[in-house]
This record gives sequence, C-alpha cells and structure tokens, in this order.
Amino acid sequence: MSQSNSQKRLVVLPGGGASVTEQRPIRHYCEKVLRPFWDAVETGALESGSLGGFVAGAGAYEIHRFTLRGETDGNTTVRLGVFATIHGDEPQGASALIELAQLSRRQPEIFRGYELQLYPLCNPTGYEDGTRHSRRGEDLNRHFWRESQEPEVVLLEREIAAQKFHGIISLHADDTSDGVYGFVRGATISQELLRPALMAASRHLTVNEAPVIDGFRAHEGVIVEGYDGILSAGHIEPRPFEIVFETPAGGAVDRQIQASVAALTAILHRYRAMLSVANDI
Ligand SMILES: [Zn+2]
Repeated sequence: MSQSNSQKRLVVLPGGGASVTEQRPIRHYCEKVLRPFWDAVETGALESGSLGGFVAGAGAYEIHRFTLRGETDGNTTVRLGVFATIHGDEPQGASALIELAQLSRRQPEIFRGYELQLYPLCNPTGYEDGTRHSRRGEDLNRHFWRESQEPEVVLLEREIAAQKFHGIISLHADDTSDGVYGFVRGATISQELLRPALMAASRHLTVNEAPVIDGFRAHEGVIVEGYDGILSAGHIEPRPFEIVFETPAGGAVDRQIQASVAALTAILHRYRAMLSVANDI
C-alpha cells in the first residue's frame, strides 16, 4: 500500500529536533525568517521550543515553537496557537508574528491572561524553495487530520493534540483576493471573533466583500463553510475556536503585516471580553 511507501520515506526525529541541526550544520535560508525570533528570545520577549525535525533532500529541518507569555490576570490562562507559512510562499504571516512579539514589549496589557504559541514557519522547505507546496510537492494545508505521513503535518498534528488550545489561528495570504477575509470553524464563537478581527484589519486593507471568495459563499469577508483538511483541530475536544485569516497577497506587504497584527490583537481583546462576560454570569 502507498502508506508503507510513505512511511519508508518519512524521517521524523522525535522531540529535541535541535540535535538534528547540530548533527547537520547546514545553514538555511530559513534563518532569514527565524533570526528576529531568536533575537526576541534573547531579549526575553519569547521562549523557544521545537516540535522535532525531519530530513528533506540534503537538508535537516525543524518546526519551531515560540512562546509569548503574557502576565497572569488571576484567571485561567487562555492558550492560543498561531500558525504561519504553512504555504511556503506566504511568509507575511511570520512577519506578523514577530511584530506581535515586539508589540508585547510595548503594550504588555494586550497579552495579559494569554499564552500564545507561535509557529512562524510551518513549511520550511516550501519557504526555502519559494513555493506554496513543500519540497515533496504537497499542499500541506490539505493533509491535516487524515493520517498524513508528511513529516510537517505529523509534527504539527502531534503538537496541536498535545497543546489543547482554546483557539487556533492560521495566517495566510491569497493572491486571488483583493481584500482581507477569513474562514471560521470549530467553536461557535469563532464568527464573533472573526468579525471584529476583520474590522480592525480594515484600518490597513479593505475587506473582501464579494459574495463568493475562493469558491466559497462569503458574507462581509466571513466564510463559514470551510473545506476539509484545513489546519484545524479535527476531532479534538473541547473544540477550540478556529480562524483562518487571509490577507491579499498582492497588497503592500507592510499593510498585510499590520492587518494581521490588528486582527490578532482584536481577537485577543474580544475573546477576553467574552470570557469576562461568561465569568460574571
Ligand atoms: Zn495559504
């Protein structure tokens, strides 16, 4: 069966992927995206971790996790996962995440009560090759929760299952859209979080108001009939809220970054407000 073939090719190194890079000191183009994250780790704005490594061609790669820990607010810490560059040619999302980390130093109150796990480079080989797909030619975003053997997907699924997030946000850039928009799935509050996110983002880029976006029915930039295989929590209970935020890939990169940061901070703000209402009941 094809699965056993895939398994033969699969080289996932369990945990501690750092040792892989130590063994194979290949300097990647990925450094360009990750360098500011390492700098932020140096200043204490982030903590670094690894989901593990894998080998692709002559290179050893790793999926990195960077933790942004807000001050405690005395309540249960809200844990969110934010995923970027699952399509290798959309590194705008990684830039938004480093902006977010820098913002946490200037305005720590935005992050109070939150622990954010940031994954800036979910498709390192695609990024290095400048392609949407991974080096193995796969659209990784279509592989989730269907027992895929793609190493990036195996590592990310394992991470998502272990982290038990309250919410999951994926950042993308769409070259067929002239405005920002998003998909919602999972917990029903997802829509109530995406709307203010789009409103905040509209300070930087217009919202795509088309009735059909990317083949899906949309209303004011919100798509509720998401396709399968998107980076989502699948069967995990309780279901986290799930939002996919898309910027227009053809727009000014800086505006895409600012729009994503505005959307993310709006989600943090709105979710906290919803929690405090729930706590008062
Ligand atoms: Zn994408």
